[in-house]
Amino acid sequence: MIATRRESIIPEMPPPPRWLASDRSNPLPAAAQSPPAVSEKPDWRLTCLDGIDRFPHPIFQVNMLDVIEKLIALQERDQKIHQTKTELDSVEPQRAAMRAKMSKCETILDNAKTQSNQVESERKDLENQVGSKNDQIAKYSQQQLETKKNEEYKALGNQIIACKDAIRELEDKQLELMEKAEEVAVIVENAKKEAAEIKSDIDAQIGKMDAREKELSAEYETLKGGRSELAEAVESRTLRLYERLLKVKLDPVVSINAENMCGGCHMQAPVQTTVSCRQDQELVTCPNCGRILFYSDETDFAESA
Ligand SMILES: [Zn+2]
Repeated sequence: MIATRRESIIPEMPPPPRWLASDRSNPLPAAAQSPPAVSEKPDWRLTCLDGIDRFPHPIFQVNMLDVIEKLIALQERDQKIHQTKTELDSVEPQRAAMRAKMSKCETILDNAKTQSNQVESERKDLENQVGSKNDQIAKYSQQQLETKKNEEYKALGNQIIACKDAIRELEDKQLELMEKAEEVAVIVENAKKEAAEIKSDIDAQIGKMDAREKELSAEYETLKGGRSELAEAVESRTLRLYERLLKVKLDPVVSINAENMCGGCHMQAPVQTTVSCRQDQELVTCPNCGRILFYSDETDFAESA
């Protein structure tokens, strides 16, 4: 974006003297009205106050527009590298979240299946108990046929009645379990359906993530590979300053506008900073944030902020 703005700005930049004369809204201090010629003042240096080691000696015979162009090209590359790396690093956590969602779904299905198995197991147990009671009834009935004692016959009869009562209770429980089994079967079916749908969705998403990860990895390597060429094009001291700024800021190179406002920190810089920028004879940095500045009268930070 900056490059686009920059490209459109550079050819249109008026020469400093004309601007100085016409800019009535920003009257310049006397010193700024007459910038020293390079040959007259060879120790001309930056006036930044943020403590960063700037340029102890001025860079002469360097086209500052060219330097800025190269820095912006490098900055754009670094921003792309950063964006790509950030996106690349976000893939694995997203994939892990997808897997966790799938795992949660599978756990719900497993729990439903376990509940269904428990109900089935209880139902079988009741069935066995009913069978056992029926066996007892058959045994007591046989004993009744065989006994000749009236009391024993009566006692066996009571046992048979007790068994039948127990069977009725068991059958009531069986009915309750059958109802429960039907409910659990619905839960299991729904959980299966949901798990299948989610799995299909997650598989598709993970597939896309895998493909995107491959693309990003390749893109990242390509971007990184071409960076050294862009960096080598920048003069070494300028590059060192840029690299130092890059460690703490993603936009080491920003514009300053006609209102002397820095595009990085949005703070007002001294008029001289803007004047120096427009003269394009030295590398200028923001006295507040330390970013490298270039002039752009098309930037309205108040609107974009
Ligand atoms: Zn700034």
